[in-house]
Amino acid sequence: RAKTQQRAGHFYFSRSMGVEIRERVRMMHALRTGFSQNQLFVVYQPQVDLSTRKPMGAEALLRWQTPDGKFVSPDRFIPIAEYSGLIIDLGEWVMRTSMQELVALRAAGHTGFTMSINVSQVQFRHPHFMETLRNALHDTGAPPEYVELEITESMAMEEPDMLIKMLAQIKQTGVTIAIDDFGTGFSSLSYLQRLQIDRLKIDRAFVTEITNSARGSSIAEMVVQLGRNLGLAVIAEGVEDERQAQILQNLGCPLGQGFLFARPMTGEALLGWLSDDALAGVA
Ligand code: C2E
Ligand code: MG
Ligand code: MG
Ligand code: MG
Repeated sequence: RAKTQQRAGHFYFSRSMGVEIRERVRMMHALRTGFSQNQLFVVYQPQVDLSTRKPMGAEALLRWQTPDGKFVSPDRFIPIAEYSGLIIDLGEWVMRTSMQELVALRAAGHTGFTMSINVSQVQFRHPHFMETLRNALHDTGAPPEYVELEITESMAMEEPDMLIKMLAQIKQTGVTIAIDDFGTGFSSLSYLQRLQIDRLKIDRAFVTEITNSARGSSIAEMVVQLGRNLGLAVIAEGVEDERQAQILQNLGCPLGQGFLFARPMTGEALLGWLSDDALAGVA
């Protein structure tokens, strides 16, 4: 009986796998074509000082709009770009585009503004990663100390020795490192201490929690405390309402990012948004 079930299970599994693989292959081709036809673009979501609401930086986020006008979420297409290897070219393009944007913002007077760039583990593990980073910095003229790379906590958990070596090399360029989606990967304290990182990003799930239950703010509070103990900056992502912002500020979290402050926007819109702020006396 067990054997039949196993077979039945196996049959079901391979059939759905077939559908899944066909869909992946279809999207892989569409993504490759889309990239070469400029269907992909980068948007920027501001990061603000929670107490003054002053813009401090932005995170670069990739967007894909297909010819029928629909947007495909990066949560769907990034894994496919990773799986197909396209993430290498795509990631380099995001890096260069957002560094150019940083240079343009500085030229418009917004100095002191940082640019955070998401890096996939596939890019990070590629033997040419450091060369790609150095060339992008050199060619765009972006000041390294205003460039931040975001790696996820789950990425940080794998291959600690390789990671420690990579972080040291990145550090040498002057570029800073944030751990994204922090709180979801259960890094140990002693391990974190060994990593040359600059910032922790509290995952959106824990920011949402804050106003959901009585003890909802405990994880955010723990991350803020951890940041303080390890001498790391902390930023909360996915801040959607004033109550969350208020509680985070009370916990001592210095920075925030989320729809409450601004949605991700094009480079052009960001320039306008920053100028409006300057006029209003916020910046
Ligand atoms: P992430 O790096 O954690 O980025 C934050 C995500 O939260 C973004 O989703 C952003 O639009 C969203 N977000 C920001 N504030 C709020 C808020 O107040 N409420 C809600 N509900 N959401 C908010 P997005 O742009 O869809 O990106 C999803 C994920 O895709 C990113 O998560 C990142 O892991 C990945 N991704 C995006 N762009 C890139 C890229 O250029 N390279 C790589 N490797 N991954 C990227
Ligand atoms: Mg991120
Ligand atoms: Mg995140
Ligand atoms: Mg996330």
